[in-house]
Amino acid sequence: MNNGDISLLLGPSDVPPVLEYNAAGRSPFLLICDHYGRQIPKALGDLGLNQSELTRHIAWDIGIAGVAETLSQQLDAHLIAQRYSRLVIDCNRPPHAASSIPRISEATTIPGNEGLLSEEAALRRREIFDPYHRRIDAIIDQRLNDQRPTVLIALHSFTPVYAGIARPWHIGTLYHRDTRLPLLLLKLLRAEADLVVGDNEPYAVSDETDYTIPVHGEARGLINTGIEIRQDLIADHAGQQQWAERLARIFGEVEPMLRAKGLI
Ligand SMILES: [Zn+2]
Repeated sequence: MNNGDISLLLGPSDVPPVLEYNAAGRSPFLLICDHYGRQIPKALGDLGLNQSELTRHIAWDIGIAGVAETLSQQLDAHLIAQRYSRLVIDCNRPPHAASSIPRISEATTIPGNEGLLSEEAALRRREIFDPYHRRIDAIIDQRLNDQRPTVLIALHSFTPVYAGIARPWHIGTLYHRDTRLPLLLLKLLRAEADLVVGDNEPYAVSDETDYTIPVHGEARGLINTGIEIRQDLIADHAGQQQWAERLARIFGEVEPMLRAKGLI
């Protein structure tokens, strides 16, 4: 506290929100992972939830961290990830959306988000959401300035059962206005005989429910796609490695296709 009028959310024992891997990576693919981590600032305690709630899918995208790190290595691609739980603030929601700081996620009430003052919400935005998205902006600025081809890939994972309904897809592509990359990817993913592939499933991107693709992809004119992998497939290290290797192979095929079309 400074003079009683400015309070801070992140203290000296909290990690910074932004985590980067392979910042010198030479790939045109820029990997973004909004729901990488499930940290909670010490000042917020456990948000009133027990540990079992804080480790399940409502808190983060289970398994995607391991996939993202290995994919970053294999593609030689820069990865920018966000370490705090989306229950603290969801970095893939517009800050003014009700789901930005959820009071209920699936069927779980989040006591620490009940009756939040607007100043408290603003603090979460200022210390977690803003620095993360500023960093992504700065990296994109730098790459465009250096005339480096840049393809934005937003990596996510989804729960195999949501509100009692089992989801059949192994992987899905997510997109909104720009279909250039998703259509190529869908073709390559569907050529993998063992996969059930979702086309804008289990989610589609929209300006109301998403932030990273509309703001950093579409508004910046970058070719982009979201990828969603089902969490039971990447729950352990072996699954994360297999999926990272598969995606590295497929993105390795996509890159020359994008070049041949003059898109990068
Ligand atoms: Zn996600």
